[in-house]
Amino acid sequence: MERFETLLDISTHLHGHLCAGQVIGVRMAMLALSLLEIDDPKGDDRKKLYTIVEIDRCATDAIQSVTGCSLGKRSLKFVDHGVMAATFVNLDTGNAVRITAREEARQYSKKYCAEIENKYARQLEAYKIMPQHELFKIEKVMVTIPPMDMPGRPGRRVQCEQCEDWVQDCRDVERDGRILCKKCAEGSYYSLLNEENQ
Ligand SMILES: [Zn+2]
Ligand SMILES: [Zn+2]
Repeated sequence: MERFETLLDISTHLHGHLCAGQVIGVRMAMLALSLLEIDDPKGDDRKKLYTIVEIDRCATDAIQSVTGCSLGKRSLKFVDHGVMAATFVNLDTGNAVRITAREEARQYSKKYCAEIENKYARQLEAYKIMPQHELFKIEKVMVTIPPMDMPGRPGRRVQCEQCEDWVQDCRDVERDGRILCKKCAEGSYYSLLNEENQ
């Protein structure tokens, strides 16, 4: 695995700015990889890792950058819990760890880099050197990944009987004997502005 500073540079570049979230995300992902004994997540081990992130904030970009897991590869799953935590699964061994960024780390950061006056700048530098137990809570967990969420070819592809969109990966819903997409069955996140233009 590459060194922390190198990985932080890469994630900062991809994310667009250096922030505490990059430091936390890079350290979190590096820790997960070492706990799961995955050395080369973007090379030889690229099919071994599956990551579930619980928040869509800065650290998530860093996790994606270090692990190589992505939505498009179906190796990154977003579970919208608003918690700065992620679960990493070694698909070969089944071992999994959930790592949470500790809220207390903000307080602990005062012990480090006292010479930096700006709070956010101090936190950022402190998170780089703080011992791992002050920064993270680590839990061994078990994760059952449904076959329809696994990377690989789509298992099912059907057409919605209402809007005619094609639905992959078993996300279709049956309602009163009809096969529907989720938006037709459960409501959509958008509304059409101008039906005549369709
Ligand atoms: Zn950021
Ligand atoms: Zn539909």
